[in-house]
Amino acid sequence: MSKNPNDRHGSTIAAKASHFLDVHSGAVVPGIEPSTTYARDDRYNLINAANGYTRDDNPTFIHAERTIADLENGEECRLFASGMAAIAAIFYTLRPGSHVVIPDSMYWGAKSWLQTHCERQDIAITEYDAGDAQSIEVAMEGHTSTKIVWVETPSNPMMHVTDIAQAAEIAHAHGSMLCVDSTAATPVFTRPLDHGADLVVHSATKYLNGHSDVLSGAVVTREEHSLWQDLTQERHDAGALPGSFEAWLLLRGMRTLYVRVGAASANAQNIAEFLQQHKSVETVYYPGLESHPGHEIAKRQMDGGFGALLSFGVVGGKSAALAVASKLQLIVSATSLGGVETLIEHRHTLEPEENRIPENLLRLSVGIEQADDLIADLDSAL
Ligand SMILES: *Cc1c(COP(=O)(O)O)cnc(C)c1O
Repeated sequence: MSKNPNDRHGSTIAAKASHFLDVHSGAVVPGIEPSTTYARDDRYNLINAANGYTRDDNPTFIHAERTIADLENGEECRLFASGMAAIAAIFYTLRPGSHVVIPDSMYWGAKSWLQTHCERQDIAITEYDAGDAQSIEVAMEGHTSTKIVWVETPSNPMMHVTDIAQAAEIAHAHGSMLCVDSTAATPVFTRPLDHGADLVVHSATKYLNGHSDVLSGAVVTREEHSLWQDLTQERHDAGALPGSFEAWLLLRGMRTLYVRVGAASANAQNIAEFLQQHKSVETVYYPGLESHPGHEIAKRQMDGGFGALLSFGVVGGKSAALAVASKLQLIVSATSLGGVETLIEHRHTLEPEENRIPENLLRLSVGIEQADDLIADLDSAL
């Protein structure tokens, strides 16, 4: 696991999230700042120049943003109302006539929104093979205005691994920005900015918060380039911010980020190895397995584990997969990921046919329960 610039380990940054000492009360945890507006003095100056109106900023957001920026080794961070609001804010900065390059396999909510948005805004999209960063070069051929190369690694739900450093090199050679959706990897295992990315996006709804009770998103930048200035203005003016209670819950969740994600990832590795030798399982998609085509790249850019998401194909097709999901006693069938509880999902039911999600595929978001209990549940359902 990697260190941050001032040499504190990420687990220390997370545990100290919002490190605070209120000189008035002695509190070691910051309060929630619910006020939307802040008073001015008799000369009409703000009493505290940092606080004017909550759509600009808010002390609770700042605690969470500083923590996420430090975890990612970035310059600055902005919180958004959801992961999708964070992703949208990046693409809102593009002008008509721009071109973007996205992976063929990625979080479906983002891809589906992008297709609609880019069509309306006359922004061209080209897809590349998520498992082969070199194919980004091909996707750029014939385009002179590629503004964003998008990477999601490991990808959802097929668990493709994209080489961030290689993607960055190609993007930068074409004057384009590299944005990485690092929701699945988390800063515990990958810090994309250290591998050359310009922006990192998180659905903070997932691992950063970790308790399936907050909707939030974050963007972290390596430096304050012009896209970042446009993006922060976009958030300020269009106002896709979370509430201060959500930001506070996120801070609370992040204090245990390393122990949660470490335990969940160790469980996922155990479960992947169990599933791989099970006679009712056809294929296991998990970058921690040596058989995974992206394993070598994952070993290079993931440090300390391979994450807690995995997918597997059940022998017997769609009906067999649905039957397995329905027989589970401990593992809950539900969408989303990144919580302390293990969830299973049949993505084929939720995505359109053209996405070619195998009908027998089940995706697991592995939680922090005892691995033996999870394996026993899967074993009896299979
Ligand atoms: C969930 C998710 C998103 C969207 O985040 P929301 O908080 O649901 O808006 C984006 N990317 C990935 C990889 C996700 O898993």
